[in-house]
Parts: sequence; C-alpha cells; structure tokens
Amino acid sequence: MKILIAEDDNISRQIIHKILVRFGRCDAVVDGAEAVEAFKLALEDGEPYDLICLDIMMPGVDGQAALKQIREIERQMETRGEREVKVIMLTALDDAHSVVEAYYRGGATAYLVKPIESNKLLLELQRLGLITAEQSKSMRGQK
Ligand SMILES: [Mg+2]
Repeated sequence: MKILIAEDDNISRQIIHKILVRFGRCDAVVDGAEAVEAFKLALEDGEPYDLICLDIMMPGVDGQAALKQIREIERQMETRGEREVKVIMLTALDDAHSVVEAYYRGGATAYLVKPIESNKLLLELQRLGLITAEQSKSMRGQK
C-alpha cells in the first residue's frame, strides 16, 4: 500500500506515520499544496497513492481545498470509482462544518476526529478495505 500523510502538526504526523508505516510506503508532507503536488507526481509516475490522510486545518492550501484539487485532477485523468484515492480527513472536534463540507462536497472517503488513536485509524482502514480484519485485529492494542 502507498500512503500520503498531509499534516502540519509534527506530533500528529509522527503518530499517524508510526501506525501506517507497517502497511507500506508512507510519504509525509506538511501542507495542502505539497499534498496536491505529491499526489500529482505519483499519478504521473503510474504509482498512485492508495490512501491519503489529509488534515483539514493546514496553512496555505488547507485540506478541503487540497481535496477538491485532488478530485479535480482525478476527473481530468478519468480516474473513477475504485481507482479514486481513498481520503481520510483529519479534523478537530470543534470543526464540524469543515467535515460536512469535505465529506459531501469535496469527496472525502472518511473522516477521523483528533486526537488520532491507533485503534480508530485501524478500524477505518479495515472499513475502507485497505487492510484485512486479521491485520486490524492483530495490531489493535499494540503501541
Ligand atoms: Mg493542522
């Protein structure tokens, strides 16, 4: 699995990286512009991401704007359905409006409320079909 983590907070980025690196290659960027750029490069190289964890609150191009650009690039390249990248939006608890925006208009696949906990993220990966129930179960409870 190929994963992109876009998160401006260093600690959150490290926590997510530590969980996800067990499942494949993990690239990390710190803002939305870099996320869109990384997404585009990977697509052009024929090695697209399977999953993007996209923080909503980031400086410059935020997560919502980045998501819209990513979905637009997919449309231009006629990437549809199963081939669309799965995007988990990361959000603060008090940012419900942004979640709704991202989810219904921006094309988010899922969202997680911070703080990101290993078990929540693993269950979401399983729900999205990115890891098996066995993988999820064997890693839950691990630090
Ligand atoms: Mg942030």
